[in-house]
Amino acid sequence: MPVRGFVSLIGAGPGDPGLLTVHGAEVLSSADVVVYDYLANPALLDLARSDAEQIYVGKKAGCHTLSQDEINALLVERGLAGQRVARLKGGDPFVFGRGGEEALALVEAGVPFEVVPGITSAVAAPAYAGIPVTHRGLASSFAVVTGHEDPAKDESALDWSRLATGVDTLVFLMGVGNLPKIVEQLLSHGRPADTPVALVRWGTRPDQRTVSGTLSNIVERVRSAGLRPPAVTVVGAVAGLRERLRWFEERPLFGQRVLVTRTRQQASALSARLRALGAEAVELPTIEIAPPEGWARLDGAVARVSGYDWVIFTSVNGVAAFWERLVHAGLDARKLHGVRLAAIGPATAAALESHGVAADYMPDEYVAEAIAAGMGNVRALRVLLPRADIARPALADLMRSAGAEVIEVAAYRTVRPEVDARELRTLLESVTVATFTSSSTVRNLGAMAQDAGLDLSQALAGVTVACIGPITAETARGMGLGVHAMAEEYTIEGLVQALVDHVQAISGEDESKR
Ligand code: SAH
Repeated sequence: MPVRGFVSLIGAGPGDPGLLTVHGAEVLSSADVVVYDYLANPALLDLARSDAEQIYVGKKAGCHTLSQDEINALLVERGLAGQRVARLKGGDPFVFGRGGEEALALVEAGVPFEVVPGITSAVAAPAYAGIPVTHRGLASSFAVVTGHEDPAKDESALDWSRLATGVDTLVFLMGVGNLPKIVEQLLSHGRPADTPVALVRWGTRPDQRTVSGTLSNIVERVRSAGLRPPAVTVVGAVAGLRERLRWFEERPLFGQRVLVTRTRQQASALSARLRALGAEAVELPTIEIAPPEGWARLDGAVARVSGYDWVIFTSVNGVAAFWERLVHAGLDARKLHGVRLAAIGPATAAALESHGVAADYMPDEYVAEAIAAGMGNVRALRVLLPRADIARPALADLMRSAGAEVIEVAAYRTVRPEVDARELRTLLESVTVATFTSSSTVRNLGAMAQDAGLDLSQALAGVTVACIGPITAETARGMGLGVHAMAEEYTIEGLVQALVDHVQAISGEDESKR
């Protein structure tokens, strides 16, 4: 008997990756195989094990990649083969998701399974558009209805006369194509023509779009807006609350697609911040952190660290590499007893703190020039500077001219990742903002563009450029880029703030022109 597998039918939620349940995330991250379809946000696949097999089964209306029977058979086959299968479905698996059919196939084949409910688009898309499906005094009931019924069918499975007036809020899924038919049915069965209606396309995603009106004009408005599936259609008085309750589209960076060029490890903090402000963050690491050519020099410095007066850390990566070698040598923070530590900025200081040591000094302005100024008299002091293999000589030079003995060691190397030319081109065309958090991110993106046959300044011609500080901005300008936003405080938070200020100033200008 083979070990029996297990299939989890997981609701992926409506689109925003944050709307997957905790249990869904746990199951996804341990699965051997992930079977997913069109409506499940592919960003969730990042949660899967890197060696997990990923199978796309389509299900976009009209172009099924695998038929439902084939999907059922696939789940059964993998389950019987002993695999742990995560079957990721948009929204909730049991709300028009054909999850019931998949479960029945598994039961018949004797494959154990579970259902992990998800947040359905029927409730979440209206919520993100500012529409509560129930509301005291306006709606005491709601129904989720298929809009996919064949309008040519004589016998409708829907009892329109009861639906039209028997339920306060109606939410139609899969109903964009049939909208005229749906509106006609509702009107002819007694729903007043002035009933508010809203269609929400790609609800909860950064590209969410909403068209609203009433039963009398919504068909025309949707047609002239060119709104296409997938969308939910909300009919009922609650749709009118959107005017006052819209919130998601009001976020300061809503509608912006922002390029994040930091290393994969460092990107997430910036991306999370951007997403919280309504932007779509697109990560394209322009730097990869690699070990130095050899460990000998860093190991030597670590072994003799108590002989230094100061260690200056200029990046989180430097702290990480230093600690890795400290631990590798069987040592710990006590080895730093009596050595003073400087951190170039709050992120580096926080990295030190995570190892249980506090920085003795952090400059107010997070640039090399500011560090030397605040460390006091360094004449004849021994200063260790663990840094990238290629670093600006400014800091070491400044310390030396102040009379310090400076030992620089490469703690890590930065390398430029390979990227597919077509992918890079599409990506650069699609963003509205590019962020740069160091000169290397600008230079590397320039080189990556060049490899793809592009000129960076042309590729980013219509794009807002935001830089973390003056040195990065100077590098960007030197490469022919316009710099639109620059952080006042040279941190990620400062960068994001500068971007928000810029975007708001621009939209303010647009409004005053109207
Ligand atoms: N099980 C899914 C529904 C699948 S049916 C759920 O619970 O959400 C497919 C329909 O769901 C689409 O035609 C569309 O009407 C709706 N839908 C799914 N995700 C959506 C989203 N992010 N925004 C708007 N509608 C969505």
